[in-house]
Amino acid sequence: MKHGKLPEKFQPSFGNFLILKVPGNRRNHYPKIILKQDMQDVLKNFNLTGYNTFGIEVFAKLFLTFRNTQELKEVLDEYKNENVLILGGGSNVLFSGNIDGLVLQNKIKGIEVIDENANDIYIRAWAGEVWQDLVDYCVGRNLGGIENLSLIPGNVGASPMQNIGAYGVEVKDVFYQLQALHVREGYIRTFSTDECRFGYRESVFKNQLRGQFVILNVTYRLSRYPRFNISYGMVENQLKLMGVQELSVRAVSEAVIAIRRSKLPDPKFLGNAGSFFKNPVIEKIEFERLKLSYPHMPHYPSGDKIKIPAAWLIEQCGFKGYRRGNVGCHEKQPLVIVNYGGATGKEVFDLSEEIIHKVYDNFGITLVREVNVI
Ligand SMILES: Cc1cc2nc3c(=O)[nH]c(=O)nc-3n(C[C@H](O)[C@H](O)[C@H](O)COP(=O)(O)OP(=O)(O)OC[C@H]3O[C@@H](n4cnc5c(N)ncnc54)[C@H](O)[C@@H]3O)c2cc1C
Repeated sequence: MKHGKLPEKFQPSFGNFLILKVPGNRRNHYPKIILKQDMQDVLKNFNLTGYNTFGIEVFAKLFLTFRNTQELKEVLDEYKNENVLILGGGSNVLFSGNIDGLVLQNKIKGIEVIDENANDIYIRAWAGEVWQDLVDYCVGRNLGGIENLSLIPGNVGASPMQNIGAYGVEVKDVFYQLQALHVREGYIRTFSTDECRFGYRESVFKNQLRGQFVILNVTYRLSRYPRFNISYGMVENQLKLMGVQELSVRAVSEAVIAIRRSKLPDPKFLGNAGSFFKNPVIEKIEFERLKLSYPHMPHYPSGDKIKIPAAWLIEQCGFKGYRRGNVGCHEKQPLVIVNYGGATGKEVFDLSEEIIHKVYDNFGITLVREVNVI
């Protein structure tokens, strides 16, 4: 694997023109001349309703969309005394109030093959790419690894931050490295898998390095000869339903998409941020104690511990389809808190508190929020 220096998306500038390196496979890596665009203005008192999938109305003191690393550097330098929030697709945030600082939306685009060998292809995607566009890119080229992560909303930049996962696969399984810019000091650092300290919906960027780096791009290792993971019964059943005889990257992706469409609310119509809580992982001894009272409690091994579906715990507490004012738990998937319209961040947060307390009272298990409360 070669470690070249970070290729700037925009190559040398000639007056009012820039040579743009068009992402794609090697054959179509030709330079194209485009008109130079000025850096956008920072917008004041900006309404973020359309920038979070919960659809919560809050305002950012300052807001800017950046399209390349240079723009990002310049704005961070100019507003170095402001609190900074990096936003991708806004599909895993709950805004609890107005943002007294600078919200930066990452729109750095590009997907490129940076290396390959007989088995693997290394694909670098820039953080502002929509995650599903990367999935489509890989499915279209029959490259395996992220087909189980089809239709997860949001952008590439958040994928390692959250270590997104679904149907038995997590981003860490295909992650190779990422490059990130230090918010205050402006240097670019490369992070390996170990340095990202991935965990279940966790990474160093959500913990020790929270708010310190802007993820610029992520390199994934995709496989030409994928080993499919259809260990989740739902995926296997869906493939049977679809009459799939021979597994392929596309077939698995389509199965996952069909499952997700049938059970998850579309944020375009019903505000939500997907699973609000993580599935709790408990000690075996605690599990044995609970099993005496709840012999049918679903559970899965997780290392030497036991994972319990949070949705089941929440449902047992009577929250499935529960509604209070503008918020509630989805009727098909109680793990998803929804905004029926006009909800405030506080309403959503208060419902999540109520759920945490009820689950704790009934099971002695403390649910942890997966969504980033801001
Ligand atoms: C309907 C629905 C279904 C979902 N299903 C799943 C699922 O199956 N599995 C799963 O894992 N998730 C799921 N999610 C959650 C969400 O899609 C993921 O967490 C996604 O990765 C968030 O991406 P985003 O770009 O929207 O991030 P945002 O919500 O914009 O940001 C999330 C966090 O990452 C930070 N961040 C974003 N971009 C950067 C960057 N470039 N550099 C540094 N920090 C950054 C933000 O500051 C914030 O703290 C679902 C959400 C919805 C609405």
